[in-house]
Amino acid sequence: MKHYIGIDLGGTVLKGAVVSEDGEILQKAEVPSQAYRSADAIRAEIQTLIENLKKTTAEPVAAIGCGIPGIIDRRLGLVRRSPHFPEWNDVPLKDALERRLKAPIFLDNDANCAALGEAWKGTVRASASFVMLTLGTGIGGAIMINREIWHGDLGFAGELGHLVIEADGLPCACGGRGCLELYASASALKRMAEQQGMGALTALKIAEQARSGNQQAQSLFDHFAYYLGAGIGSLVSCLGIHTVVLGGAVSHSADLFMSKLEEEVSRRLYPPSSAATQILIAKLGNDAGVIGAAYGASLNPVSRKA
Ligand SMILES: [Zn+2]
Repeated sequence: MKHYIGIDLGGTVLKGAVVSEDGEILQKAEVPSQAYRSADAIRAEIQTLIENLKKTTAEPVAAIGCGIPGIIDRRLGLVRRSPHFPEWNDVPLKDALERRLKAPIFLDNDANCAALGEAWKGTVRASASFVMLTLGTGIGGAIMINREIWHGDLGFAGELGHLVIEADGLPCACGGRGCLELYASASALKRMAEQQGMGALTALKIAEQARSGNQQAQSLFDHFAYYLGAGIGSLVSCLGIHTVVLGGAVSHSADLFMSKLEEEVSRRLYPPSSAATQILIAKLGNDAGVIGAAYGASLNPVSRKA
């Protein structure tokens, strides 16, 4: 049986796993990402993690997939920019790892890898096309069309967190204004809580308060659902894709926003479109990225450059 390694680089934790060709995780490992370090130091850390994982399997590793946050140029194997790693600028990660590890490297955006994971072993195995939003500090996005990630002309389509939902809204790090992730993410909940005089609360704390009956905390999730519904309604109308998958930490609070979200999405859609729309919660949790990166590697066997 072929084995693959999947890597998921986050702003806080660098995760890796040995994954069998049928998608089972055989071994996992993680280390802190220490995002303040240079691109070269983090590349070395990824390499060490892969080498350590390789030692845990007697089978040869057929290919390695890396899910990296940010703008990835898959054609050139570059990480163009990454929100968590401000120092990164056109980092040739694919070549650097292939040269040292002597194995084919598959590189894609982390949200695309999470969507690949959910498509392979998670919640959407039955749907050939879906959009996925990972609701974390920001919003990651992926568009899967007929079982393939849609990368767009320049390679980095699917930045769903930057859908504009308030034309003259808050300024965003992307250079635009009023982007979805400023209104429907963990950071958005945190900001809204501060504005409401609730103090410095994490999204998790706000969820705890809402579950224990705090109306003010629940109203933040209502706002969150209002904006997320506007974004998802636009996406469904635009793409004609009716399966929407929500992942990321805030998706664990779906009990606090799902009914309002479904109402909002439905309100914005043509009735047949509304009837066909299903909003699902991702199933693989923190493992989606490593499983999806391994899956990407298994689908994209590329030979190592000389
Ligand atoms: Zn933006």
